[in-house]
Amino acid sequence: MTLRLKHVVQKTEHLMVGINELILMQTRRERIVELLESVDYPLTAEDICQELDIKQRSVVYEDIDHISKSLKNVGKSLLVRPARCGKCDYVFKTKSSSKRPSKCPKCKSQWIISPAFLIRSRKR
Ligand SMILES: [Zn+2]
Repeated sequence: MTLRLKHVVQKTEHLMVGINELILMQTRRERIVELLESVDYPLTAEDICQELDIKQRSVVYEDIDHISKSLKNVGKSLLVRPARCGKCDYVFKTKSSSKRPSKCPKCKSQWIISPAFLIRSRKR
C-alpha cells in the first residue's frame, strides 16, 4: 500500500467511526422521543436510563436538551415536571431543570426529586 493510500484509508476509518457515533446518538435520541411519547406519566432520566439501557444519566439530560429544541419544528412539545426539593417542596424553575440540580437554594437540602419528562403533540 502506498503511503498516500494508507493515509486515505486511515482518514476514512476515522470518518466512519465518527459517523457510527453520530448514528448511535441519533438512534438513542429517537428512542428517547418514542419512549416519552408512549408513556402515560412523566419519566425521570433514571427511568429513561433503565428503559433504554443507557449507562450515563448525564447523556440523557444532554439528549433531552437537544430533543426539546428539535421538537419545536415538528409540532410537539417536551413537557417537564420540574425538579423539587424533597424537604421544603421548593420547585426549581422549569427552564433550568432539564439538568438535575444538586442542592436546594432555599434549605440547602440535597434531597432533590428529579425532573421528569413527557412528549405530547402541541394542540393547534
Ligand atoms: Zn429545600
